[in-house]
Amino acid sequence: MSLKVAICGGGISGLSLALVLKKFMVSSTLTVDLYEAESAFTEVGAGITVWQRTRSIFASLGLQAALDNRAVSSPMKLRKSDTKEPFAFHTLDFPHGSIALPRLDMVQLLVENLQPDSTPFLTIHFSKKFVSYKQDADGVTLRFSDGSSSRAHLLVGADGIGSPTRKTMYASIAERVAQSDPAKAASVLEGAQPTWAGTYAYRTLLDGEKLRAVSPENVMLSSGLMWCGSGKHVISYPISPTLINILVFDTVPGGLGKPLAGPSVAVASKDEIAELYNDWEDDLRIAVENVGDVSKWTISHIRGLSQYADGRVTLIGDSAHAMSTHFGAGAGQAIDDSYILGRILAHPKVTAGNIAEALKVYDAIRRPIASDVVERSLRIGFLYEFHPDYLPSGTDIDKLRAGDRNELKKVSDTLQDLWRFHWAEMPEQDWERAHEMLEARL
Ligand SMILES: Cc1cc2nc3c(=O)[nH]c(=O)nc-3n(C[C@H](O)[C@H](O)[C@H](O)COP(=O)(O)OP(=O)(O)OC[C@H]3O[C@@H](n4cnc5c(N)ncnc54)[C@H](O)[C@@H]3O)c2cc1C
Repeated sequence: MSLKVAICGGGISGLSLALVLKKFMVSSTLTVDLYEAESAFTEVGAGITVWQRTRSIFASLGLQAALDNRAVSSPMKLRKSDTKEPFAFHTLDFPHGSIALPRLDMVQLLVENLQPDSTPFLTIHFSKKFVSYKQDADGVTLRFSDGSSSRAHLLVGADGIGSPTRKTMYASIAERVAQSDPAKAASVLEGAQPTWAGTYAYRTLLDGEKLRAVSPENVMLSSGLMWCGSGKHVISYPISPTLINILVFDTVPGGLGKPLAGPSVAVASKDEIAELYNDWEDDLRIAVENVGDVSKWTISHIRGLSQYADGRVTLIGDSAHAMSTHFGAGAGQAIDDSYILGRILAHPKVTAGNIAEALKVYDAIRRPIASDVVERSLRIGFLYEFHPDYLPSGTDIDKLRAGDRNELKKVSDTLQDLWRFHWAEMPEQDWERAHEMLEARL
């Protein structure tokens, strides 16, 4: 019996799912149609960092060397920067390192190894914008913006934070809930909306040589840095031998959880950043004066969906758990989803008849982990900014803001502990649990 899979979205999650299937699929009865709204695979934005969890998945795909060859690695130091007398107060200890690369390089790496033109189980449909679906006992009917439709046994929504898959799924869940509890139906719908993480991120790249020419000793040239201070922070790290990726945050007091206003991304200027940080340390001010084009992102997230799967439909990547950027985990978590879902779909016992049961295993394994990472990421961002609600208990906020090293150590110890997620456990262990559950249920 065949298993016809539709993937909507050809970003990092959709592409990595196709790649995992290519590696682990043993039967030739599974086929994949990947629908991408754009006319080509592309990736907006600058750099991306990945960690040991993600590297271990690339290793199991036989691609760790290919990933490492495209990436650069640097230590990450925490600085107290909201002063004219700045200092480093901790170097984050990453036992397996962290590696960063341009985002487009990550997409290219996935596409090159997928080789869509010579992969028989896979058909790519570009310029195909998915709108909504309807599912029945035998399959799912997908509808597209050009008026066409198609059928599959399984729909995977890899369509990013604005996911029409998620919207259709939760409209349908809310409709069912409304039959017994209309008030709860409204909260089901509301819980599936992205909300504001309370901050804007200005993203830009800096040419390291240009900075060296005007500021040869600039600390930004020597390491990845977390520029910390009251109410704001900046991240900078190299993504190639010459390029430095910079994320400058403008956190709005009380903004967390407020409805999203304005565009998700807009063109901005370096003057806006300079104004925000003009009373911070000089190395940062000089670096900002030399950056390239700037874009301003509204950072939003999806906190704790109640389910990632409903019948024959499931969500992966940002469509399920878009998160703030502070933990460098969004792409990594998208790839984790793809790894677990791909291995489940490649399992010989999974068929068009029991797919809903198999998706429950995906949900049970992935949802608790990704939901935890969304919250971790939020807390980490606020810790960089010494936000009183997120500090470890017993922190003296006034001393901390004044730069007391004991108080800063409490913050860095907490951060170090939160960061452990990236190397403490590997997705392979999650797959082992998923495998046991599949064997028991199917
Ligand atoms: C400022 C910023 C910095 C970040 N830095 C990092 C970092 O350092 N490390 C990290 O791990 N993560 C980082 N992330 C997060 C990471 O970029 C995302 O988590 C990741 O790209 C999610 O991949 P995705 O494939 O799920 O979604 P997306 O990348 O959004 O891809 C969705 C795809 O679906 C397509 N699509 C959308 N709608 C439709 C439709 N209706 N029909 C068909 N196709 C559709 C889109 O064209 C796109 O190709 C960052 C994010 C931001 C905003």
